[in-house]
Amino acid sequence: MTNKWIDEAEQSLLHTYNRYPIVLERGEGVYLYDTEGKKYLDFAAGIAVCGLGYGHKEYTEALKNQVDTLLHTSNLYYSKPAAEAAEKLTRAAQMDRVFFTNSGTEAIEGALKAARKYAFTEGFGRYEFIAMEHSFHGRTMGAVAVTGNEAYRTPFEPLIGGVKFARYNDLDSVKEQMNEHTCAVIMETLQGEGGIYPIDPAFLQGVRKLCDENHVLLILDEIQCGMGRTGTMFAWQDYGVKPDIMAMAKAIGGGVPVGAFAMTEKVAEKSLAPGDHGTTYGGNPFVCAAVSAVLDIFEKEKICDHVKKVGAYLEAQLDALAERKESVEMRRGKGLMQGLVLNVPVGEVVVKAQKEGLLVITAGGNVLRMVPPLIITEEHVDEMIEKLEKVL
Ligand SMILES: *Cc1c(COP(=O)(O)O)cnc(C)c1O
Repeated sequence: MTNKWIDEAEQSLLHTYNRYPIVLERGEGVYLYDTEGKKYLDFAAGIAVCGLGYGHKEYTEALKNQVDTLLHTSNLYYSKPAAEAAEKLTRAAQMDRVFFTNSGTEAIEGALKAARKYAFTEGFGRYEFIAMEHSFHGRTMGAVAVTGNEAYRTPFEPLIGGVKFARYNDLDSVKEQMNEHTCAVIMETLQGEGGIYPIDPAFLQGVRKLCDENHVLLILDEIQCGMGRTGTMFAWQDYGVKPDIMAMAKAIGGGVPVGAFAMTEKVAEKSLAPGDHGTTYGGNPFVCAAVSAVLDIFEKEKICDHVKKVGAYLEAQLDALAERKESVEMRRGKGLMQGLVLNVPVGEVVVKAQKEGLLVITAGGNVLRMVPPLIITEEHVDEMIEKLEKVL
């Protein structure tokens, strides 16, 4: 059966992924099961998406209710789930206004358009973006243009113009790229795909100050590191600075495809207005019921506090593993977004881990990435370490 699905998929799907030969069928808590009945401890969470794991009762009930009530309306009308989700999300994100998208990359497109429109309204001839090396912001043309990985950009050029790159955690390199044409700096608060690079708090505060002094907006991409993953609702909330615009996706819908970009009132006043931006699906009742349920559960179950605790435990266990194993150079990360820098081929480690019943993913060239469901416990961490110990 397993091979049948794989053969069928390979005949019809565009070959944009080299997939692992596993057909996942169902999930329960923090475990996934394939079509052969093999059980996997999931430290990937569908790439940092399934924050509440699989089959969370309150979450799935909310989805089922909404399916029975109303799925889609378009944005020509109001809906109760959208109103509720927007109120809860802006409160959690300490932002004033939000626009719902269908993915992370669309949230980035929206953030870039919002910054360009703000600069256009201001009328000082600002249009340039400063983005970071090793960054990842998505696969549509605008998001690719600000992604700091040439292999992702080159085949699709010309991309949107006016993008410059600086080095992450190097304030001088940002200063060097900034001029009277700069409209915004865009970066991840903790770099994910590029290799799990945490931000230096002084760098983030320095960039914020530089932006303020030069009338430049700060866009933070919290698509992967947001929604509790680092122990605060959004990663920037731990550093005493605030972005002007932020992008969210991945875990905000708990598995339902939804993203968002949000901004302060100051930006919103001079930014996207009726006619400037839109989406047919974006923020429909179904996905907004998901966002709403996720935010309720975060509050009720104190997910951020839990992540702080279990994240500290994970860090300690990974540090100890790095001490014991010569193949591990170091650990990098924060909370439940962790990377092990390996000096052995990371792809092989991922496959061997799968055989042991553990799902982990990669980042950058040589980093083993762990972004488990946020509900994992210390016992799950121990189980993961036991499996990884064997593999390494
Ligand atoms: C995943 C990701 C994106 C793109 O999100 P998609 O939903 O895949 O379009 C953008 N930025 C960061 C930091 C991400 O991790």
